[in-house]
Amino acid sequence: MNKNTLNEKEVDILLVGAGIMSTTLAMLLRQLDPSLKIAMIERLSDVASESSDGWNNAGTGHAAYCELNYTPEHPDGSIDTTKAFSINTAFEESLQFWSYLVDQKILASPHFINQAPHHSFVSGDKDVNFLRKRYQLLSAHPLFADMQYSEDPEQLKKWIPLVMAGREPTQKVAGSRVRYGSDVNFGALTRDMLTALQKMGNFEILVQHCVTDIDQQADKRWRIRAKNKMDGPHSYFNARFVFLGAGGGSLALLQASGIPESKGYGGFPISGQWLACTVPEVVGKHHAKVYGKAPKGAPPMSVPHLDTRIIDGKKTLLFGPFAGFTTKFLKQGSPWDLATSINPTNLLPMLSVGTQSIDLIRYLISEMLQSHKSRMRALQCFYPEAKPADWFLSVAGQRVQIIKKGADKAGKLELGTEIIHAADGTLAALLGASPGASTAVHTMLGVIETCFAKELKTETWQVGLKKIIPSYGQSLVDNRDLLVTVREHTLASLGLDQKPL
Ligand SMILES: Cc1cc2nc3c(=O)[nH]c(=O)nc-3n(C[C@H](O)[C@H](O)[C@H](O)COP(=O)(O)OP(=O)(O)OC[C@H]3O[C@@H](n4cnc5c(N)ncnc54)[C@H](O)[C@@H]3O)c2cc1C
Repeated sequence: MNKNTLNEKEVDILLVGAGIMSTTLAMLLRQLDPSLKIAMIERLSDVASESSDGWNNAGTGHAAYCELNYTPEHPDGSIDTTKAFSINTAFEESLQFWSYLVDQKILASPHFINQAPHHSFVSGDKDVNFLRKRYQLLSAHPLFADMQYSEDPEQLKKWIPLVMAGREPTQKVAGSRVRYGSDVNFGALTRDMLTALQKMGNFEILVQHCVTDIDQQADKRWRIRAKNKMDGPHSYFNARFVFLGAGGGSLALLQASGIPESKGYGGFPISGQWLACTVPEVVGKHHAKVYGKAPKGAPPMSVPHLDTRIIDGKKTLLFGPFAGFTTKFLKQGSPWDLATSINPTNLLPMLSVGTQSIDLIRYLISEMLQSHKSRMRALQCFYPEAKPADWFLSVAGQRVQIIKKGADKAGKLELGTEIIHAADGTLAALLGASPGASTAVHTMLGVIETCFAKELKTETWQVGLKKIIPSYGQSLVDNRDLLVTVREHTLASLGLDQKPL
């Protein structure tokens, strides 16, 4: 198609993918500069239908209250809390942004987030000692001061009755609890934000269009081709900034952009499944997210947990995730995704990760071979009286872990999230999947800081950011008074601390 087609549009910002990440970036930018012309392209017929959909993720508002992998224990017995602090403060930024949107009536209500106390639960002397030490360390800091801890089975029965019922009375157990932990329906949040953006104007979403080509022009603007999946004419956009928020589709687009920063990156897909229960008598007895310890070789995001989910006002229990290997990078992707992602720049890192990750591969194979009976056995370690007939298998979303060159040129598998951006700040891509949607606001603020550095220096953007995220630019770790003010406000505005629960 020639350049001057009717389907060619000029925009300031082009976002690929209609998940929580692109949508959060769009909403942040819209608050900072209402005049920006923003377009979003989504390959599916509906928005938020991949990882961000409520059923495709666990909906945990990750704040490091219950996830034991955020506080690893060193061989000398010391516990590293660095990650717990950074994730907790990053989640506070999300809570501030969401409560700002609710306070301003940009979102009609905080229905997308619900209080679900966050618990860690362990058994056996070794793990009980670990949890006790973890609690002592964390609760000494204002960020975690509301954490409770107990080794008393009677107290634990009150907090998490399903987990305690039918348990061997001599078994040593311990649990911690933060009452204002949350369950978030990231799909509903994404949809609500997109509806609001459309009402505000200067914003367009094109669904059923798949971005296939992305080229930088001599004037530094990007030309994007969006293939129409309904056999209609394709669309073309010219944008001064592009964000690749395509989830598992981001790697292919980053490679297609040809920016030097894309070289050497590869992806390792891991699929997920849950056991789900909708039986009212069971669901009604559990209102919490209970995280345990990961089995040997399991990647951190496969830590087993028994979760209350509240999706569209309906309560369900989920247990899992059970991992699996697949060659697809998106749940609705192609079995060729893995093969087509391999190129001369990432072949060596990918091969070397394959040979280094024997424990992970062994774990994934064992997960793939699980039957309903063996999955139930894993659940019964958490909920001893669980009945097989009450639980069914539900397929979760895909995660694509990052493979990149290590310092020694060998590949390494990264289990976090990474933003890769072009040196000229005109393009950014999000790779990886953890801690994920919970920290979308912090991650997208990182994109703004890197790619909109000039605008960010202006008084308008500085004032705007302080309005939408009052703690912006200050440390919630060091400033107790700020933390108390911010947290009191967000918990009240989002209805997260309704006692007693
Ligand atoms: C099993 C599982 C459990 C999880 N649990 C949690 C949790 O408890 N808490 C948490 O915070 N996070 C969790 N996550 C992570 C979280 O779901 C993701 O980090 C988040 O949803 C990613 O959002 P996204 O917008 O980047 O991607 P997505 O929601 O996947 O959106 C990407 C979009 O891009 C579209 N797309 C792809 N390619 C193209 C293309 N070429 N052109 C146009 N559109 C394209 C896709 O169709 C999709 O709609 C979990 C993830 C999984 C898989």
